[in-house]
This record gives sequence, structure tokens and C-alpha cells, in this order.
Amino acid sequence: MPADKSTTPPLPFIPFTRPHFDEATIEAVSEVLRSGWVTSGPKLAEFEAALSAYFGGRPVRCFANGTATMKIALQVADIGPGDEVITTPISWVATSNVILGVGATPVFVDIDPVTRNIDLNKVAAAITPKTRAIMPVYLAGLPVNMDQLYALAKQFNLRVIEDAAQAFGSTWKNQKIGSFGDLVSFSFQANKNLSTVEGGCLVLNNIEEAQLAEKFRLQGLTRTGMDGMDVTVLGGKDNLTDLNAVIGLHQLKHLPAFQARRTALARQYFAAIPQAMKDANIEHLALELAVENFTESNWHMFQVVLPLDQLNVSRAQVMTELKELGIGTGVHYPCITTFALYQERGYAVAATPIAERIGRAILTLPLFPGMADDDVSRIAKALAGVLKNHLKP
Ligand SMILES: *Cc1c(COP(=O)(O)O)cnc(C)c1O
Repeated sequence: MPADKSTTPPLPFIPFTRPHFDEATIEAVSEVLRSGWVTSGPKLAEFEAALSAYFGGRPVRCFANGTATMKIALQVADIGPGDEVITTPISWVATSNVILGVGATPVFVDIDPVTRNIDLNKVAAAITPKTRAIMPVYLAGLPVNMDQLYALAKQFNLRVIEDAAQAFGSTWKNQKIGSFGDLVSFSFQANKNLSTVEGGCLVLNNIEEAQLAEKFRLQGLTRTGMDGMDVTVLGGKDNLTDLNAVIGLHQLKHLPAFQARRTALARQYFAAIPQAMKDANIEHLALELAVENFTESNWHMFQVVLPLDQLNVSRAQVMTELKELGIGTGVHYPCITTFALYQERGYAVAATPIAERIGRAILTLPLFPGMADDDVSRIAKALAGVLKNHLKP
């Protein structure tokens, strides 16, 4: 059957995110492959040195992924069975899984509905004699109040393990996240602002901690002389390869341009969404936008919270209809205590009601450096159109 000439071709699909690797990066990966040294070696050393310079000279070690990075941060801080770690229920489940993984207990504190990060005002009430650390997450790249975070840590003598997986390039009072503080963990997973395909890095306080982290990432091994070795701690296999490291070296060069583009797109969203809602006569809808922070956030994601109580459809239906219009969206994240494993371990979703509500209604809209300007207004119009069709009477 001949194609119907009267229908306009569908607009290209916009995924919620897409990594960007240029030809020079692809060439550099090929060179590593041809060199004969493909796993952890000179490129890893170069990447770690570049990262250390980026973070103002603090020691940095890389790992196979962000999850391994956080696990090793907990091990470096000697957190294990009997210890409690305070964290947020709105994160990628890796955050609390690694706490369980080392045998410690995650303690979930509810989030601030505006920042969607852990509500630091509620942390003190969750501290017990077993509390050893706070593990905040900077959702979508927006940091918490770092002065308040480190004041709490000091007051209660706690370690801080920052899950800054989404916050590479974010700042606090003009200082890069990672350039100060205690243990700061980043992810270089494919969707993150700086990607090595998979990978992660940990910023540490001193060389002793860095050496301990090196042991944990490779079987707990210490080399003694030319032929000697010893195993002093129980380590795993969490090293980053030169193939990944060389990608990271190239991504670092592009980071300022990526960052500028993300910020420009986020600014467009703040204008386009209210405009599209006005045009659709749905200005009264309580659609919650992100915090309009252009000095500190790296705009890892642009998220809205759907006004589900004003709509007669679920978030899933909104996502389906946006997908039909060629727009990819994501959920980052459901409240962790809704997961079966956490339910079995006795966590109650009702204990963190704000996280429960936001976890059900949060929606990630497309945001990545390769997006076109036109995409933002197209997405805003599509969103307003879908919401308008599903207003509760
Ligand atoms: C991506 C991410 C992680 C885990 O990183 P991986 O590299 O995927 O292991 C942890 N926490 C948060 C908040 C993340 O976004």
C-alpha cells in the first residue's frame, strides 16, 4: 500500500537523555585498544591526576562504576554491621543498597518538597548512638545546604559520604562539589553529565585513605617489592580500565560546553512550561518545577512533579501519551521504601510521606547537550496538551 502523502512525517523521538562522544574520543579509544595496554594503566593514572587537579588537588581514585565507588567510600570510613547511615529515600536504589551491602542499616529521612533532597532539618531527630554517617544525594545535580550538612556532621561527630553521582560540575558558594568536604562519590555512568560509559570516582581526604581505597578496589592487595604481595583487607574487583579513563579525559574537555548548554536548556524550560500552560488555559494546575538555581546546579536533569490529585490519569499514562508524541521521559525515582526488599526489611513508606508523594509523581523531561532549542517548546506544549486532556472535572 502506498504511503499516505497527506500525513506529515512524525517528529524525531527525543529521549530523556543521550550521551555525547565525539570522533576524537572514538579515535582515542581505538588508540588504547591498539596500544596493547587496555585495563588499568597509564590513562587511568592520567585521568585520576586530571580529576585531582579539577578538585583542587584532593586525592581522587576511580572505580568501575558509581555503585562500587560508594561501597568503597563506606569501607574506607569503616562502616559495617551495627552501624546506621542516614540517607534519602528519593535516590537511585544504589545509594541504600550499598549501605545494606556492607552490612550497615540505612535510616531514611524525608525530603524537602522544594529541593527534593534530604531535609537536613530532620536529620538530628534520626540520629542514634549507632549513627556513623550521613549520605546525602544531590538529586538532578542540586546540592544540599553544605554549610548545614557539615555543621551537623561536626556536631554529631559523623562521617559524610556524599552521593554526588549526579553532581559533577555542581558548586556550593563558588566551590566545586568534591573540592571540599569528606568523602565525595561521583558516577560516570552513560547518562551522567561526564561519562566514561561506566565508571566513578571518589574524592578522599588524604593519601592514606586513597591507598586504602586502592586496596579495596583490587582484592585488598599490597605489593611488597618486585615479587612480593600481601592481602591485608577484603577487597573486590572494582578497577576502572584505561578504555574508560581515556573517554573521561576527553569528556573533561567538553564539560564547560556541556554545562553551558544544559543551563541554557533549563532556562528555556522555565519560560516555556508556564507559557505552554497559559496557552492551554491550565495555569491553575499545580505543576511543580525544579528549583530555579543557575549558580549551583549542573542541571543533570529537569524534573517536574505532576499534580496527580488534579488529574484523572496516572503518571504512567502521561508518560505513554508523551511517548506517542515522540518525547521520552523518566522516573527518578520512586521512594526506595516502596521496593519489596525494603518492605521485607520493615521500612514503612508512610514514615517519609513527602518522598512517597514525590516518588509517585516526579517526572524527568528530556535534557542533554545535544538537544535543539525547538525541542524545549515542543516538549512544553506536548506536556501541557496531555495534562489539559486529563483534568479532573
Ligand atoms: C548513577 C547513580 C548512582 C550509581 O552510579 P552507577 O555508576 O550507575 O553505579 C548512585 N547514586 C545516584 C544518585 C545515581 O544517580
